[in-house]
Formats: sequence, structure tokens, C-alpha cells
Amino acid sequence: MRNALSTAITSIASWLPAGGFDGAKRSAARDCDCYHLGMDTTVALDLRIVPLSAELAQRIRRTLTDDFGNRLAVWHCDSPAPCRSCLRLSQVGEPLIVFAHRPFDFDGPYAEVGPIFIHADRCEPYADARRFPPDFATRCLTMRGYNDRGTIQTAELSQPGEPEATLARLFADERVRFVHVRNPAWGCYDFAVERVAERTPRSAATSV
Ligand SMILES: [Zn+2]
Repeated sequence: MRNALSTAITSIASWLPAGGFDGAKRSAARDCDCYHLGMDTTVALDLRIVPLSAELAQRIRRTLTDDFGNRLAVWHCDSPAPCRSCLRLSQVGEPLIVFAHRPFDFDGPYAEVGPIFIHADRCEPYADARRFPPDFATRCLTMRGYNDRGTIQTAELSQPGEPEATLARLFADERVRFVHVRNPAWGCYDFAVERVAERTPRSAATSV
């Protein structure tokens, strides 16, 4: 069965270097909570979809106050909006909360703050880390790649139906540790895609 991912795999085969990326080859055989971009088992990128943290979403719902002191309200929008927790488009009339969020673990000039929506009622956080969220896959998206210090390295406008191919190009830059997916017109943050490192201090610490 061919799906969007296998289509992307074919499309990136022509520009991938012969033999692939060393780090990608090392991680290709690992079983992890991520998805792979590559043309076969010798070339792969291990990536993980990261929605808004469930803890933050619950705190926002409970307190109706965000990290910037804004008092929040429950909205009933007359058009669908993407929930950053479950990563699906809301139904018209579903109660939503909009709040200010800074989706960075870093301080610095690139650590932007902006408005995002979540369902006002508890929803199931997006858990399919191996799959690009279907409600976003057919949208035009801005994708920005950042290094491990939170400095932007590259960016692309991803065309509808091509998110995996865009991610593969961005992560081909080995400095890129994570990508932020955003709405291209409104600029709002949607979710992150992280490179799953072969060996990081955090993963090393949790493996012993
Ligand atoms: Zn939701």
C-alpha cells in the first residue's frame, strides 16, 4: 500500500546523497517512537511529531490564564481552527481557547510568542508521532528549521500534500534539530517536528 510517506520517500530519492546521511544510517534500524523518511533501510531520517504538552493544555483550561498573564475566554468560532493539542481542525461551534504561547525552550531573539488555539474541553493529545497530522498534511504550511540553540537555520513554504518532502529537505541540513510548522498567512505556531538523535545526553540518561 502506498501512502503519503512512501510517495515522499520516492520524491526525495533523487536528491539524497549516495549512501545517505551517516547519522541517518546509524539510526535506521532502531525501533523508536518516530517516523522515517528515506528510500530504503540504508537512508532514513527519524523524526517525531510533537504537539502542545498535555500538561500546559490542561493548565490553560483550568486557570484560563496563560504564561503571559492574559486572562482568557472560551470562544465559539464560526470557522474551523486547528487545536494544537489533538492536532485536528475543530468543528464549527466547538468551544476553543486562544492563548499566548512561546514554543521554545530557549531565550533569545528567535523565541517568538504568538496566539494558538486549543479545544476548551479536554481532548486527546496527538499521539501518532510517526505520522504527519492528516488535518495539516493537505495545507500550505510554513516550516522553519532551528539548530540545537534555537537559532533559525532554514525555512520553506511547504505545498499541500508535500510535508514529508519539505521536512526531508530541511532536515538534510544536519544543523537542524527541530522544525516548527506554522500557518503561512497568519503566522501562528502549529506544532514541532524533532529529529530523533542517535545518542543525546537526555536519551543516554534515560537508557541507564
Ligand atoms: Zn483538541
